[in-house]
Amino acid sequence: MPSLFETDIRKLKGVGEKRAALFAKLGAPTVGDLLRLYPRDYQDWSEVTPISEAGIDEVCVVRGEVASPPTEQRIRGGKLMHRCTVTDGVSDMKLTFFNNRYIPSLLKEGEAYLFRGRIGASGRTASMVSPEFAPADRSAEIVPIYPATQGLTSRSVAQAVRSAMALLPDTLEDPLPGEIREQYKLCYLGYALENVHFPKTMEDLEIARRRLVFEEFLVLQLGLMEIKSGSRQENLHPIPGGFPEEFTRLLPFKLTGAQQRAVTEGVKDMSGPSTMNRLVQGDVGSGKTAVAAALCWPVIKAGQQAALMAPTEILAAQHYKSLSGLLEPAGVRCGLLTGGAGAEHKRVREGIRSGEIELAIGTHALISEKVEFHELGLVITDEQHRFGVKQRMALAQKGASPHMLVMSATPIPRTLALMAYGDLDVSVLDELPPGRQEIATYLIGPDKRGRAFGYVRKFLDEGRQGYLVCPLIEGDESGMMSLEEYLPRVREAFPGVEVAALHGRMKPAEKEQVMAGFAKGDTRLLVATTVVEVGMDVPNAAIMLIENAERYGLSQLHQLRGRIGRGKFQSACILISAARNPESVERLKVFKSTNDGFAIADADLKLRGPGDFFGQRQHGLPQLKIASMSMDMELLKEAQKCARRIYRSGALEGREHMLLRGEIRRLFEKTGGGRVAL
Ligand code: ADP
Ligand code: MG
Repeated sequence: MPSLFETDIRKLKGVGEKRAALFAKLGAPTVGDLLRLYPRDYQDWSEVTPISEAGIDEVCVVRGEVASPPTEQRIRGGKLMHRCTVTDGVSDMKLTFFNNRYIPSLLKEGEAYLFRGRIGASGRTASMVSPEFAPADRSAEIVPIYPATQGLTSRSVAQAVRSAMALLPDTLEDPLPGEIREQYKLCYLGYALENVHFPKTMEDLEIARRRLVFEEFLVLQLGLMEIKSGSRQENLHPIPGGFPEEFTRLLPFKLTGAQQRAVTEGVKDMSGPSTMNRLVQGDVGSGKTAVAAALCWPVIKAGQQAALMAPTEILAAQHYKSLSGLLEPAGVRCGLLTGGAGAEHKRVREGIRSGEIELAIGTHALISEKVEFHELGLVITDEQHRFGVKQRMALAQKGASPHMLVMSATPIPRTLALMAYGDLDVSVLDELPPGRQEIATYLIGPDKRGRAFGYVRKFLDEGRQGYLVCPLIEGDESGMMSLEEYLPRVREAFPGVEVAALHGRMKPAEKEQVMAGFAKGDTRLLVATTVVEVGMDVPNAAIMLIENAERYGLSQLHQLRGRIGRGKFQSACILISAARNPESVERLKVFKSTNDGFAIADADLKLRGPGDFFGQRQHGLPQLKIASMSMDMELLKEAQKCARRIYRSGALEGREHMLLRGEIRRLFEKTGGGRVAL
């Protein structure tokens, strides 16, 4: 088959210069590409439904004899309309056609045809408007529908595919070795191609599709694994192996099993032959900071420095406070470096340069030119989605390929993590520390807002703080709640309560000030847009109200809700929404039903597809031709297993996988080398 990928599409009968250009537009400049241009849909003519059993609104194929010659009528606008009745011997069906003057010559009285269309009702009789039709003796078949383009119909693509199929040798070499096909019960490539294009039955199509989807996933995974191993660098900062027990004794709690696993994985990386590149992915509150600190420990003990970069001053200060409190008594010197200048700034910079400061915590101030490290062994970025790869790299440049640890609270289903974070190994914290209170979540209509405010009041009276979230800063024609409208309402509803507003158009310094006021407890209610979504850790905040909750995706709602339930207080989240459309209702119901970030991520994936996960995060993942990450999850998992096995055994280099390597090259070369970036 590889040779067919070098065979120009013009080799096919009926494809000249002009058509070749159109095929190229569809992504099929060669015969091989054309065979991999799969139908986007199928019309099933293989199953004929008796008229009496055809349900209204269903798309059916009906076999009917034309009972009387079609009548012709001119209707408004000069449109031509034909009508006739057909019968299957038991029931009648009425047909209407518009603007097709050939109808009388195409539909002959007394002859039988197959009609395919959506069933309607004309009084008590079934009907179809402008159905497709074909002579009844045509072999009942499933018609592939191809992506088409101006000047090239699905039908002509199908014809070209037919002649391309004829060029295939009888025994086609299959990129999937027989052993894999057998183990995963996958059909042979020749069968798959024949049946993905021209299936006889829907079962055959399913068998074909399953194999092709598996192959595509396998090729994708293997390619990503290769990229990942290619980006590995020699470990210039090896540390001794072994679990940092000494560190864990400093903690006021016992690490969860998930935390222990993540630490073990990180230590193994850093004591191994190549640089660590690891993502720790854990739900809000899963205890990523402790994992980070545990991994700093052996690095510092080995005489090197570690740096922890947070996206905001508040977060950096938060980390500094808790980590220095923990580590300084054990003799580890910590420093905080945020924006600004002055003597303190200089002193910290000096300490970082001399190596006296062993753990540098800060904002992106850490990557400013003035900052130099003595010997930087480990770089940690917190809430990584707030940093670009560039910033992460800039911090890494401060050392000689230091180890990298990236922490993210955006849950991604495990199966997708490899693809979303191509060059990183992933540790998942899928377990919350014990004793967390579940957050109670309620969904109400805007008419109940008054009562919700009353509920908020109760939390305030008990000494708690709260977040009130709305989608807009200024009102617009969408009718959604804006800060402009909301703030005075809130102030009126909560007289005597210190209320502050927070939104994305404020200057960073203003934002920090507002957040600091809230963190200190001076501000009791924070009215905010989604800027509160990241990282704020105010354990005393226990109530959150989200206006126009239908506006947000599941993952975003989850991030928002993660701002509460961080302390020992029972917390509550109230969603306000008037949305009626089933999709929004479903989403909010799912959200109400669970606090588990991974369950939510899975549901989000099912409801909205992977676009959301990959949308902002991933560039350059190859375009899949047939597989769908959200629909074919089970196959993705199987292919992942298979890919790991092949890769680990080193078998990919072998002769039996030569064709598979060709497929990997082909899939990735179209995406400019397939660098997968964060
Ligand atoms: P996140 O993963 O959101 O960054 P943090 O690291 O901020 O979570 O941890 C959230 C809270 O849980 C902190 O107050 C931390 O001290 C606490 N914590 C972390 N690990 C444990 C544990 N194993 N047992 C009990 N509490 C823990
Ligand atoms: Mg955190």
